[in-house]
Amino acid sequence: MNAHQHFIGGTWTGGGATIPVINPSDGQVMAEIARGGAAEIDRAVKAAEAAMAGEWGRLDAVSRGRLLLKLAELIRRDADDLATLESEDVGKPLSLARSDVQVCARYFEYYGGAADKVHGDTIPFQNGFTVMTVYEPHGVVGVIVPWNYPLQMTGRSVAPALAMGNAVVLKPAEDTSLTALALARLAAEAGFPPGSLNVVTGLGAEAGAALAAHPGIHHISFTGSREVGVLIQTAAAKNTIPVTLELGGKSPQIVFADADLDEAGAVITKAIAQNAGQTCSAGSRVIVEDRIYDRFTADLARRFEALKVGSGAQDLDLGPVVNAKQCARVKGYIDLAEKDGLTILARGGLGTNLPQEGFYVRPTLIGNVPPDHRLAQEEIFGPVLVAIRVRDEAEALRVANGTEYGLAAGIWTSDLGRALRLSKGVKSGQVFINNYGAGGGVELPFGGVKGSGHGREKGFEALYGFGSMKMIAIKHGV
Ligand code: NAD
Repeated sequence: MNAHQHFIGGTWTGGGATIPVINPSDGQVMAEIARGGAAEIDRAVKAAEAAMAGEWGRLDAVSRGRLLLKLAELIRRDADDLATLESEDVGKPLSLARSDVQVCARYFEYYGGAADKVHGDTIPFQNGFTVMTVYEPHGVVGVIVPWNYPLQMTGRSVAPALAMGNAVVLKPAEDTSLTALALARLAAEAGFPPGSLNVVTGLGAEAGAALAAHPGIHHISFTGSREVGVLIQTAAAKNTIPVTLELGGKSPQIVFADADLDEAGAVITKAIAQNAGQTCSAGSRVIVEDRIYDRFTADLARRFEALKVGSGAQDLDLGPVVNAKQCARVKGYIDLAEKDGLTILARGGLGTNLPQEGFYVRPTLIGNVPPDHRLAQEEIFGPVLVAIRVRDEAEALRVANGTEYGLAAGIWTSDLGRALRLSKGVKSGQVFINNYGAGGGVELPFGGVKGSGHGREKGFEALYGFGSMKMIAIKHGV
């Protein structure tokens, strides 16, 4: 089996150690990728520096935007192939992979259109001065992404970084690097100059750590776990460079008796089942007002029992989780719930003819979980929803804010005053009132507070994060 190579300075390069790529749907090796380390990262950073000093760095904003738009077009042209590859690599249902491809294309389209619209200001100052601000790229940006939505996460960080004129060194997750490499191929076809986008595959502790610590990097955009986020921020601190951290979550869905309970039940179930619960902003705690708790959790239980797990190609409600380690981890939490006597309210079903070696976990709804229990505190990152009973609004807010995370929150109520009070009180980067996720629009700024990280990606906001503002004061006299 020929291993996939790195893409450095516009050239495919490999050789040396490799990493097997496992298809989570059947547990079989489907490909191999190059196992890069400090040497490959160093070459990629130098290629990016050369791109900044050369053709890429001299390109005007309009031309950069056109390249991004061209890449969006090529992603759409190859949508079927990319979706199949993503579904096999991550294990996600084919229709979800198809939608991920469209979102990835949309990132390049959105930021392609925005590239020439990042304006500075003029600032009223003393007579005899004109003062203005301009935005400049940081230079070489390191991007490290996780395995749950590889195409989406890559598009989310790489597109705004390129739109602002940075050169990028991307380290995809070792489990799911294949579509990042496909994207690099399309970027070359679109005409991106050599070195503007480089992809080095490898393990987190090797290639990832080398990228985070490299003195030639001027900004790091990291999406992944809190644990690794701390390492990234520490590495960035040593080089005194800015960092965006998009980390985990334990996001609450707060449901009151006056909500549209049917819609709430449907959306809450879908949000945790999607991508087998491997979504940073999955609403993984449902906090329910006491007087509807039994009725509402019985409705959720019916919905969970109707869920079906299958291979990526079977395209059912959810696929396997990404790897054996994650499978054991998620099942470990379900075992812990049983051991501690928590109520298992429902389990979803497995589809037929599933390969034994696949990493399948049945979606599980667990009731009456104490808010301080590990299942209500820790990010499980699997199709497990914990239900928590609360007396009133004040307790709901206390429980909602009672974890180390602060990524997203859903509030379900027809009382507008309560919705607004809670949306102000809840500690999170996003609040959804009577909906959850808002369709994931690329236009909507996204990020966390507390242990969920800092900085914002998506929307126009991301562009400012990938640039630095320069103030220019001109003294010309009155
Ligand atoms: P992870 O932190 O283990 O890995 C993420 C990336 O970091 C991978 O590319 C990995 O190779 C790399 N990495 C690992 N160790 C490293 C090190 N020492 N130095 C540098 N890089 C290293 O996370 P994961 O398990 O791939 O993804 C799941 C996590 O990502 C969850 O916590 C999830 O909530 C989070 N996530 C957050 C968002 C968001 O937008 N906030 C989106 C998706 C996923």
